[in-house]
Amino acid sequence: MKREILIRHVAKTTRDMWDRGWAEANGGNVSLRLNEEQNAAVVGLQGQSEWIPLSVAAPTLQGERFIFTGTGRYLRNVELAPERNIGIIELNLCGTAFRILWGFESNGRPTSELAAHLLSHATIKESTNNYAHAVIHTHTPSLIALTYAFADLSTSNLTSLLWRMHAECVVVFPRGIEFLPWMMAGSNTLAHATADALRTRTLVVWEHHGIVGTGRNLDEAFGRIYVAEKAAEIYLACAAAGGVKKALTDDQLQAIADNFKCNWEKSLLAGWPGGA
Ligand SMILES: [Zn+2]
Repeated sequence: MKREILIRHVAKTTRDMWDRGWAEANGGNVSLRLNEEQNAAVVGLQGQSEWIPLSVAAPTLQGERFIFTGTGRYLRNVELAPERNIGIIELNLCGTAFRILWGFESNGRPTSELAAHLLSHATIKESTNNYAHAVIHTHTPSLIALTYAFADLSTSNLTSLLWRMHAECVVVFPRGIEFLPWMMAGSNTLAHATADALRTRTLVVWEHHGIVGTGRNLDEAFGRIYVAEKAAEIYLACAAAGGVKKALTDDQLQAIADNFKCNWEKSLLAGWPGGA
């Protein structure tokens, strides 16, 4: 794989995020742990910076290379100037520091959510047996709106709501969607809580903030977020039209899960948030 193709793929994802209204100003960030083929595209790159200590240790990611979006950069500009808005980094052999191999011109750094991304990558590398390589954080308006619309949102009633409002959901995220109460963006507390949730989930909602989605590649992570966001949009459209009068039932969800052979976490089925 050529490096330009890899960069174009990241730019396509960030452009799609912007187009959907998920990445206002410098909102949202993306990271991809390079697989064998993608690593071949960056062979020969020399360190462009000193080793920079990480705020968290990620020993299981020792020596791994990643593409990251840059801190303070606008995702809509990646396609215009990738060398400025994204970069390739490499972790040292202890997983305690990184250096820049390419990009982040000039004097830029990876996203301020670097710790959350790296801890998430460490978790999903292990929990998916090296299948998952992509982490996307973004500001999906309808999912965020749900965190303001309900005072009693939980992992189970949010999962239930989304599963019942769009037939794709139980297939796309059969292990549910985690709901995390508000924590400071960029904090190690939020980074650890997100990584813990990703041991079982592929999606994590941050209250009053946004979502983290993971997948084998950027397409899969983006697609999972999109399906969850669409279910939230459908719910809000119904609410605006007078409320939900009927939704997918437990039996219908079971039938869908059986049809697509999904190992779904049925124990998450719950009532609606708000007690309705
Ligand atoms: Zn954010």
